[in-house]
Amino acid sequence: MDATTTRGATPPQQIADPAGTVLAGHGLTKTYGPTVALAGVDLAVRRGESVAVMGTSGSGKTTLLHCLAGILTPDSGSVALYDDGGAVAVHARSAGGRAELRRSRYGFVFQQGLLLPELTAAENVALPLMLGGVDRREAQAQAVRWLEWLGLAGMTDRRPSQLSGGQQQRVAVARAQVVGPPVVFADEPTGALDSATSEETMSALLAATTGRGGTLVLVTHDESVAARCHRVVRLHDGQIVHDATTGEVAR
Ligand code: ADP
Ligand code: MG
Repeated sequence: MDATTTRGATPPQQIADPAGTVLAGHGLTKTYGPTVALAGVDLAVRRGESVAVMGTSGSGKTTLLHCLAGILTPDSGSVALYDDGGAVAVHARSAGGRAELRRSRYGFVFQQGLLLPELTAAENVALPLMLGGVDRREAQAQAVRWLEWLGLAGMTDRRPSQLSGGQQQRVAVARAQVVGPPVVFADEPTGALDSATSEETMSALLAATTGRGGTLVLVTHDESVAARCHRVVRLHDGQIVHDATTGEVAR
């Protein structure tokens, strides 16, 4: 099924005022014993931007993403999220505070969708809303809207095992958007997909995230995936060695 057939021009939610820096990492370092994973990274990401983080295996991509996302705390340096007119010091929050931030202000798409196998597609997508206190009926309705927009009408009651790899990733894309987060992180979201499905998943992820004024920070090995982003950052031995903006961010 072609995802583009049911996808309208704009996603079902929008972020107001897409301007300025939304996320800034400054002086980030992280070591694991003798291994330097991050050796002082500065990265400011603009609202509405899609940024591909590239680099060879072990160059620090996942560590950077996890520091920006509040999954890990850096050894030194800071991460600021500018949201709702204020700055949140992500690195300085407690584990519980970071978990709350990840649930409410960030979306995540991983290489494997990490969907809960016993829940339907709609229930998987509704879950972040319900964890945030939205009632089941309303959460389900919003989940179904996102799934339909992503070309999964008629599949909302299927469990992940009854969906193809590409369809599962679109469920994961929907789940990452449903709370309307300013930033979505994706670590190798197309890493397990063939090239046609990879392209379709990227289209869905970009349209859903930047299409509603959100920001995408994506780790990939795939040059064709990176080429679809506004900006490509390359890491080597835990440092940014290349940073090129190739596309216009919509204003
Ligand atoms: P990438 O995502 O670019 O492959 P990572 O950020 O996963 O790189 O890892 C960067 C470096 O840090 C690698 O040398 C990796 O082996 C090391 N590393 C990452 N996580 C851990 C960990 N939890 N314990 C020990 N070493 C780690
Ligand atoms: Mg990695």
